[in-house]
Amino acid sequence: MKVRMPLCKEKEMKKWQKKYKLKMKAEGKYNRGNRAAQSARYRQVRRIAVHAQRIAGYARKKGILVKPEVCSICGIKTNTIHAHHADYMKPLDVTWVCQFCHNWLHTIGGDAK
Ligand SMILES: [Zn+2]
Ligand SMILES: [Zn+2]
Repeated sequence: MKVRMPLCKEKEMKKWQKKYKLKMKAEGKYNRGNRAAQSARYRQVRRIAVHAQRIAGYARKKGILVKPEVCSICGIKTNTIHAHHADYMKPLDVTWVCQFCHNWLHTIGGDAK
């Protein structure tokens, strides 16, 4: 059985669809702009991060920074200790953490990098 929508409903649907499409289009544009801005921000953060990591790496070579064998958060002994920067503007201010705690710092841990 073919069900036909009442004419008035059909018109309403078409109107709604048009509105919906326009809305999606507008939002798509908004998202694209937002994504571009986000990736620009991300690139900037990455640049600073790489810079901080380079300085930290140099400091380690010079013996200014000494990489410990244990995570400073959970205390686990591992050979994959990461240098975590709470603030990239302070490249020598690193927190030595294990991979797990590092992930945690970057997710639930807040705005740290
Ligand atoms: Zn840890
Ligand atoms: Zn980190």
